[in-house]
Amino acid sequence: MGSEPKLTLLFTRDEIEATVKKLAAEIRQDYHDKRPLLIGVLKGSFMFLADLIRLLDFPLEVEFVRLSSYGGGTETSGRIKLVQGVQTKIKDRHVLVVDDIIDTGLTTAFVLDYLKQKKPASLKLCTLTDKPARRKTPINIDYCGLTVPNKFIVGYGLDWDERFRYLPDIYVMEDED
Ligand code: 5GP
Ligand code: MG
Repeated sequence: MGSEPKLTLLFTRDEIEATVKKLAAEIRQDYHDKRPLLIGVLKGSFMFLADLIRLLDFPLEVEFVRLSSYGGGTETSGRIKLVQGVQTKIKDRHVLVVDDIIDTGLTTAFVLDYLKQKKPASLKLCTLTDKPARRKTPINIDYCGLTVPNKFIVGYGLDWDERFRYLPDIYVMEDED
């Protein structure tokens, strides 16, 4: 891409904070006595997961998985590879997958399938953002934050080719061309 991408504000840090609070309250209700294992999907969910668990005042554990599917652009390649799996025992644990965005759903479907094979006591999904317009496989979202339009978003952990992750707000990225 020759020109700098143009960023248009979509969700402010205050809207994000309110959303994380709402999700934390729901999760607290369901998991406060279950010592859940929260599994963040790297890298995009790290900021969300960090803010989320600081609002959860009960025993829990944190793990990460990392997958690759994007070839550096804004389109998923659809070929998903597990780059880093979980080290912790999953069997009989209450597992909550924490994602940044559900787009086509292919990555999340892959993660859920991978974890399901390890026989958790329960397996649920929480996502900060959902882009339903692009879904290629049905995904049941148990805790859903913000619905986003059919645009590429960056900020609050979400990157474009490793750029813009550090932004505290969420933006739509548009080409200048
Ligand atoms: P999916 O497999 O659902 O198509 O995409 C999963 C992953 O692609 C997300 O976890 C995220 O890392 C990346 N992704 C999908 N849509 C967007 C987007 O709008 N912005 C950014 N930065 N990443 C996205
Ligand atoms: Mg992700």
